[in-house]
Amino acid sequence: MNSVPLLDLKAQYATIREEVRAAVDRVLESQYFILGPEVEALEAEVAAYCHCRYGIGVSSGSDALLVALMAIDLQPGEEVITTPYTFFATAGAIVRLGGKPVFVDIDPHTYNLNPAALAAAVTPRTRAILPIHLYGQMADMDPVMAVAERHGLYVIEDAAQAIGAEYKGRRAGSIGHLGCFSFFPSKNLGGIGDGGMVTTNDPTLADKVRLLRGHGARPKYHHSVVGGNFRLDAIQAAVLRVKLPYLDGWTEARQRNADTYRRLFAESGLVAGERIVLPVDAGQGRHIYNQFVIRVEARDALIRHLKEQQIGTEVYYPLPMHQQVCFADWGLSAGTFPHSEAAAQETLALPIYPELNDAMLVQVVEGIARFYA
Ligand SMILES: *Cc1c(COP(=O)(O)O)cnc(C)c1O
Repeated sequence: MNSVPLLDLKAQYATIREEVRAAVDRVLESQYFILGPEVEALEAEVAAYCHCRYGIGVSSGSDALLVALMAIDLQPGEEVITTPYTFFATAGAIVRLGGKPVFVDIDPHTYNLNPAALAAAVTPRTRAILPIHLYGQMADMDPVMAVAERHGLYVIEDAAQAIGAEYKGRRAGSIGHLGCFSFFPSKNLGGIGDGGMVTTNDPTLADKVRLLRGHGARPKYHHSVVGGNFRLDAIQAAVLRVKLPYLDGWTEARQRNADTYRRLFAESGLVAGERIVLPVDAGQGRHIYNQFVIRVEARDALIRHLKEQQIGTEVYYPLPMHQQVCFADWGLSAGTFPHSEAAAQETLALPIYPELNDAMLVQVVEGIARFYA
């Protein structure tokens, strides 16, 4: 039996090996490793791809969030509204600046911020809203922007899983004041190490992010503000520039895989029996399927069964932010955000990467069907 891994980056590398090696070689020959022309070219290309005026290359998606919050001058004690069902970096960036994450629960179907819960979470201390476009589908942005405008709040999009995703024709990272992207290798556009990007249409914010990225120095060795080292490497930029022109093709392959899963699961009868809930596409734009996350009965036993069948799965994310040990001081007990907690216990990501073939998708669905048979 062949294995079906959750993600196979070697399969992608095999299709672009020569181009990637040439790009790395170009940087090695230039001996220009930090920022510079490769990073500037990538910034322009990613900004254009995301329908934004500015892109600022940074060291990771986590640092993109951190520097975006620094750029709006988040002060200790100020609040940022977000969801507890996300990767740690979202809440971590707020806390590192002394800010306070104020959580609202997710929509149980899309796993994104439930805008109906938003207005009630705004207080006089709220500075920003930080919606996450989870798994490749954008959050419901119209009501988010409406609440932000009504209260004079910034909106920072965590678009780490959503490069190229669209909401009513507008791209991730282009609707809020700032967009934050990750080039972690497993993201849809992944580097050969850590990397990230901040996007914006606001020239003042773009300038602020640029300044903060290099320790607030302007000119060199003269510091008007305290920033950090949030710089992007030239070698990452050069590799990402090779990959960016392929991104739409890879996204289409992910969408095809999602369609195939939907057809195979429908044929299996598992969906009708409600043993499995498939990902809900809210139908408001382009879903880029960073993950294909299903909801199942007896999840942990299914994971063990699939592991025996050599089918890779992963749980994103098993513990919501309000239940993390490092945030225990807030006293947010189990039951506070029931939709996030249920998702953490019932969801499971299946292989969706572009290079999967139909036989592999059949193997995954048949493996799951055997478990419930
Ligand atoms: C990956 C990810 C990040 C962090 O990106 P890194 O590049 O790994 O630092 C932040 N938020 C979300 C939702 C992510 O998926």
